[in-house]
Amino acid sequence: MTISSTDPVAICSLPDSDPRSAVEALRHRAPVMDADAAHLVELARVFGNAPFTPLEEARRGMGADRAGFARLIARFREVPELRAAVEAGPSGQYWTKTILPLERRGVLDSVVENRVVPPASVGLYPGPTCMFRCHFCVRVTGARYEASELTPGNERLAAVIDGMPTDDPDALYVSGGLEPLTNPGLGELVSRASDRGLRITMYSNAFALTGTTLNRQPGLWDLGAVRVSLYGLDDQEYEDTTGKAKAFTRVRDNLRRFQALRSERDSTVRLGLNYLILPGRADRLPALVDYIADLDSAAPDRPVDFLTLRQDYSGRDDGMLPEDERSRLQEELHRFAALAAERTPHLNIDYGYALHGLMSGVDAVLPRITPETMRPTAHLQAAAQVDIRGDVYLYREAGFPDLAGADRYIAGRVGPDAGLVDVVSDFVTSERRVVPRPGDEYFMDGYDQVVTARLNQIESDLAAGWGADRGFLR
Ligand code: SF4
Repeated sequence: MTISSTDPVAICSLPDSDPRSAVEALRHRAPVMDADAAHLVELARVFGNAPFTPLEEARRGMGADRAGFARLIARFREVPELRAAVEAGPSGQYWTKTILPLERRGVLDSVVENRVVPPASVGLYPGPTCMFRCHFCVRVTGARYEASELTPGNERLAAVIDGMPTDDPDALYVSGGLEPLTNPGLGELVSRASDRGLRITMYSNAFALTGTTLNRQPGLWDLGAVRVSLYGLDDQEYEDTTGKAKAFTRVRDNLRRFQALRSERDSTVRLGLNYLILPGRADRLPALVDYIADLDSAAPDRPVDFLTLRQDYSGRDDGMLPEDERSRLQEELHRFAALAAERTPHLNIDYGYALHGLMSGVDAVLPRITPETMRPTAHLQAAAQVDIRGDVYLYREAGFPDLAGADRYIAGRVGPDAGLVDVVSDFVTSERRVVPRPGDEYFMDGYDQVVTARLNQIESDLAAGWGADRGFLR
């Protein structure tokens, strides 16, 4: 069924929509009583804006009794336009990008029910070191894996690849921890995964993505995607962030060459960029369009595939922007979107949860997980990260050598006698718990935070007796 984007019901959770026309349209389409129609629209607005709301809170907010609320939820599920309204809402990306895909695969049920299953997403952290020292990075200066750890480490990672189920070709990615391209055996690992039908995405700073690296490691052409983190748009900005002189020029030249080579080889590997908008620096966005257009010109038949844009919220405890910065950012984002559409029309832009909300006119509040709301049992069934020692980390930002306190978040170690599912099994069945300490929330990335917020919501619904309806949408 196709749902029109101008349907008043399907857009009723957007801030500038008119709830009265949505209520009116709903009454004609799905015969319901007036009060119920208003409540259904209200539910779409609640969950399209605040997806992690527990059902009891939503019920109390609209003053419904339990039987009436259960009836409303059942009715809601019969009207596809209402579901579309939640997914199109300012916080819709939480639903469409993370929550619903995990729900469809039963991953969150596995966590809540303490079942042993292979992790839905597996990060391999193969880098023994990094050539940058970004000022915001949690890595410990000078801490690295020894060169002697590489060969046995790559054997462990190869065994993880061999043990991966192949039902989801995108389940595996390579990242860090440290910089993956500092591991000279990476290309072989990538080819090994590709031979099993697994399309690895590599997160990299691309400083070492040189012609020499590509010649020495042809397996890198078997990657599904290369996702490059940009740390500025000129040499000075790069140096201010990474501490490395002339790094911008080198990375840009690497990417230009990569563009030309992938076109020449007719390679299927996708190229994307990650760009973090630093506080007060949204005026740099036009220069970002110039940068991408320049990379496109290096291979006009293979333009850059995607861009992930994020706002740096670090240092803001409440995750909110001051009003003047918020409106400036909103304006700059719309200007950027228009410019990108004109100059880089093939670029797929992912604005992420918060910027998407902001562009819709809402200052989206990110789920702020604190040590009090962290889950001592974490969510290994949803995500696991493995470094070259074979250590399996519970959270994505914990996998750095010698990082204080991070060893408490190691679930176990893969090796000759234990595969990744064995580690999951030991951790889950032993009911081990990691009691969070202040600051531990920084071991989680955005994905870990969203998964945790959703699991907390589900458990709150279950505890309140909403088993069949827990989580609202699935
Ligand atoms: S953020 Fe990435 S590139 Fe920067 S120092 Fe940390 S590991 Fe290296």
